[in-house]
Amino acid sequence: MDAAQREYESDVVIVGAGLAGLAAAREVERLGQTAVVLEARDRAGGRLESIEVDGGRFDVGGQWIGPTQDRLARLAEEFGAKTFPTYASGENAVELDGKLVRYSGTIPKLGPHVLADIGQTMFKLDRMAKKVPREAPWNAPKATEWDSQTTWSWMRRNMVTRNGSKMMELAIGAVWAAMPADVSLLHLLFYISSAGNFDLLLDTEGGAQQDRFVEGAGTLAGRVGESLEDRLVLGAPVRTIEHTADGVVVRADGAIARGRRAIVAVPPTLAGRIAYDPPLPGYRDQLTQRMPMGAVIKCLAFYDEPFWRADGLTGEAISAIGPLTMMFDNSPADGSRGVLVGFLEGHHGRELTRVSQAERRRLVVGNFARVFGPRAAKPDHYVDKSWADEEWSRGCYVGYTPPGVLTAFGPALREPIGSIHWAGTETATVWNGYMDGAIESGERAAAEAVSSLG
Ligand SMILES: Cc1cc2nc3c(=O)[nH]c(=O)nc-3n(C[C@H](O)[C@H](O)[C@H](O)COP(=O)(O)OP(=O)(O)OC[C@H]3O[C@@H](n4cnc5c(N)ncnc54)[C@H](O)[C@@H]3O)c2cc1C
Repeated sequence: MDAAQREYESDVVIVGAGLAGLAAAREVERLGQTAVVLEARDRAGGRLESIEVDGGRFDVGGQWIGPTQDRLARLAEEFGAKTFPTYASGENAVELDGKLVRYSGTIPKLGPHVLADIGQTMFKLDRMAKKVPREAPWNAPKATEWDSQTTWSWMRRNMVTRNGSKMMELAIGAVWAAMPADVSLLHLLFYISSAGNFDLLLDTEGGAQQDRFVEGAGTLAGRVGESLEDRLVLGAPVRTIEHTADGVVVRADGAIARGRRAIVAVPPTLAGRIAYDPPLPGYRDQLTQRMPMGAVIKCLAFYDEPFWRADGLTGEAISAIGPLTMMFDNSPADGSRGVLVGFLEGHHGRELTRVSQAERRRLVVGNFARVFGPRAAKPDHYVDKSWADEEWSRGCYVGYTPPGVLTAFGPALREPIGSIHWAGTETATVWNGYMDGAIESGERAAAEAVSSLG
């Protein structure tokens, strides 16, 4: 699978071996055509990466699978990737106003006014999201109004308590790795619509954080990659796509692939960094200029046992003090060792890319210790990964749209341009931003590309 100056020829050339590109290749082949995938990194999986610590596999990228993510569940079953529930026995914790409070369920006990505020906010957002068509959010009856404001502006007018707004800000950090002021209200509503409802995005039991892969989601992606054998070319960053109505020549470092169609399965901002010959219409380029990635640093601290369980804690916690926004028990299925995971998101995810990893470790471990007690201050191992610093991701969890983008440029997300088709979780209609959405997008782009071959 070495890319040294090799030439490839296939019906469809796919750029990117994240789940979207891998799913596209499998679907192209299932539909009876040939595919080759050019991947910049020296591994498949993109935003999924499992690392080994003391013989166990742990995800520094995407990890959870939840109900209704059926495409991912089918892929996992086919490749024998087993799942287990996220540890959820006991109470969660929240750090707010300088206090640490325990609670059960998704939403902390914050006093009746705050709870009512959060409840009415989620109810309103779910009701509005139902009016946003997943395939074409720009056609929502109030699309222009909703796409002309940030989520922050909407919260200012619709939320009445300071702590309710703070919780909402943390929830937005947890789902988009961005701040409410970054994200168009229409995008937020579309995202809720594509998942089903807001609770599904936020919940552990019954939601997107319900289960984990025993050997890691990155390991599953790696296996899917291996199944493509020599049709997956690693270490081949694509630089240029020459395209005509009949075909493409895709030039990567060390590899050239010729095909009848291309599927570009990378986040929009990275798709905009590839050179196209002839250049793409302004309409598409203006979209890729306007779809930033969120910023997240995922932090894992390892201990000899999950000691917080004996203290009646699930390991799930929210902090309004930070720098971590969300924390979870990330121990292996058999609980043979204790692992806490925490996320630096939104403005923390941006600012803390600029300090050393040693300083991050100090801040993160300090946050764990405030929530889980002094034993958390002394992990025997610590790992973190800043996704904005990754050359071939440039951020995470997802590319989102600021105001004005979906209504002006939305259709350019998926509309093929000549022989080039677009995939990637950002183009998904179901579970946009998630692994399941990545698979949906790859399968859709493959069907589109193959059917255009006639
Ligand atoms: C920390 C973190 C936590 C997450 N948690 C979850 C979770 O719990 N559950 C969930 O469902 N999702 C989660 N996600 C999101 C999930 O990982 C993504 O939605 C999904 O992996 C996206 O797949 P993709 O194929 O669309 O894109 P990517 O995985 O980004 O794949 C794109 C691929 O293209 C390659 N590439 C880029 N540019 C080029 C180029 N020019 N030439 C060749 N190759 C190129 C990249 O290297 C990459 O392999 C998380 C993500 C992160 C980072």
